[in-house]
Amino acid sequence: MKLTVVGFWGAYPGKTGATSGYLVQSDNYNTLLDCGSAVLSKLHGYIDINELESVVLSHYHPDHTADVGVLQHAVIVQKALKNRAKPLTFYGHTEDPAFKTLALPNYTSFTEYKEGEKYPVGPFTFTFIKTPHPVTAFSMRIDYHGKSIGYTGDTQWNDYLPAFFRNVDILLCEASLFSKFKGAVPGHLTASEAGKLAAKASAERLILTHLPHYGNHEDLLTEASAVYSGPVELASEGKSWEI
Ligand SMILES: [Zn+2]
Ligand SMILES: [Zn+2]
Repeated sequence: MKLTVVGFWGAYPGKTGATSGYLVQSDNYNTLLDCGSAVLSKLHGYIDINELESVVLSHYHPDHTADVGVLQHAVIVQKALKNRAKPLTFYGHTEDPAFKTLALPNYTSFTEYKEGEKYPVGPFTFTFIKTPHPVTAFSMRIDYHGKSIGYTGDTQWNDYLPAFFRNVDILLCEASLFSKFKGAVPGHLTASEAGKLAAKASAERLILTHLPHYGNHEDLLTEASAVYSGPVELASEGKSWEI
């Protein structure tokens, strides 16, 4: 399966960038992990958007959902133009009324997920675990023929996360904070906590994402590498991995 970073900024998009959005592909199936600000604009660079079949939302903060409405508009317009035949399914939780806007009869559908169950999404199997965050949020794990991607969404440290992400090939982990700000912002990880998570989970590779709008991002790599001996990279627009 292939993972491509569509957008990596935390909170709001940087100049010409996008917030959270990650394209996962295999077997001619395209799913998007989160759909943040400017993600739809960027997505055109990777696929025909009429070939997008699902969007899996970690939680309903705007930097993860801002482009849901315009994606729905795209489905309406492209169906009217007879360019789109495929349905579009949103996956999300129901602990926030925001989920009620995801299904548009005749255009988009909604499937609820819950912690601890397995969900087939195209050729992939998704599992979810609730994370500590100011609103209800989930981390997700994507398994496919013995390969796996872990995506933290937004979370602060919790001791149950390493077991959930055990042995993933790629850990796509939020690193919203430089280590000196540990505890200063609830609901997010520092880069060294991202490294600790990768080490404790025995992840093969760590990708730092949901990056902050201050400081030198290279320092995040240094902080994560101090506690994790595997390969660490910064998410950047268009970067992709095949596993
Ligand atoms: Zn966020
Ligand atoms: Zn959030």
